[in-house]
Amino acid sequence: MNILVVGGAGYIGSHCVRQIVAAGHKPVVLDNLSYGHRSAVPAGITFIQGEMADQDLVRRTLREQKIDVVMHFAAFINVGESVQQPLKYYQNNFVATLRLLEAMLAEKVLKFVFSSTCATYGIPERMPMTEDLPQHPINPYGQTKLDVENLLKSLAVAHGLSFAAFRYFNASGAADDATIGEDHSPETHLIPLAIAAALGRGPALQVFGDDYPTPDGTCLRDYIHVDDLSRAHIAAFDKLNKPGTQLFYNLGTGKPTSVREILGAVERATGKAVPHTIAPRRAGDPPALYADATKAQKELGWKPVHTSTDSIVASAVKWHQGHPEGFKR
Ligand code: UDP
Repeated sequence: MNILVVGGAGYIGSHCVRQIVAAGHKPVVLDNLSYGHRSAVPAGITFIQGEMADQDLVRRTLREQKIDVVMHFAAFINVGESVQQPLKYYQNNFVATLRLLEAMLAEKVLKFVFSSTCATYGIPERMPMTEDLPQHPINPYGQTKLDVENLLKSLAVAHGLSFAAFRYFNASGAADDATIGEDHSPETHLIPLAIAAALGRGPALQVFGDDYPTPDGTCLRDYIHVDDLSRAHIAAFDKLNKPGTQLFYNLGTGKPTSVREILGAVERATGKAVPHTIAPRRAGDPPALYADATKAQKELGWKPVHTSTDSIVASAVKWHQGHPEGFKR
């Protein structure tokens, strides 16, 4: 199949491009490089620099490349920024996505894979989290993702769009060959910041709160390797053949891991202590977020390969050690 990967030069998109190739399909990348990295896309893959909201460009690409499925990874992801600059988030994550979908409908490309997020649930009523929990996002980032999910439902009914929306938990790690990995600017995520601190390339890590009602007092999250995440997306392609199909999956391993446990894994993988301080809780951080990941496993016949925190963190360490400056800019 021919797959248009929107945001294919970003962290998750670029890993997905490689898994698409490994699965025998053909990816075509569309990315405006606002956050993505040109060198994250392998040589030999068709790369188009442009906007997903540019309907002339998207329609032409869908036709010329004979696209069967569109995958969309081109979202802004910084929760704090979404609170400060909501218009930026509604504009990109919702309005530009709507424009992309409109272009798809016009070209009768009716299969869509969407990166959603566990942030659509807000503060969940129970743990582990199943897909049927009520969705009450607590920030504009989560709200824009939920708005797209709702738009997709309407398009499925009205126009026969078939889609899979994956609600990610904490995407982490790097490709096994360590040629691509996480390189956000600014970086806000725990694992890269802890690795930078251990390697002496960044400030001491601030642990945001050690007084949570969790076994060691730090927050529990569900870290899932970015390659495992990518493989689940590809496993969903076959399910999109029937018009109007609507699929929602949590993507996590189901294993809660604390901030302190991540620091331990970074110390084991680097052989160095992680300099850190205890800081106040970060606004909007629930004490625990982890998936009941059984629906994706059962329905997609998919299973995470990286089941240990050590394996996920070790892959990230390998990438950061080999690329002290991240991707060449
Ligand atoms: N965290 C931390 N210090 C940091 C960054 C993150 O203690 O510098 C904690 C954060 O409070 C959360 C966990 O690490 O409990 C994962 O945060 P991250 O930003 O990586 O992902 P999120 O869960 O917000 O998507």
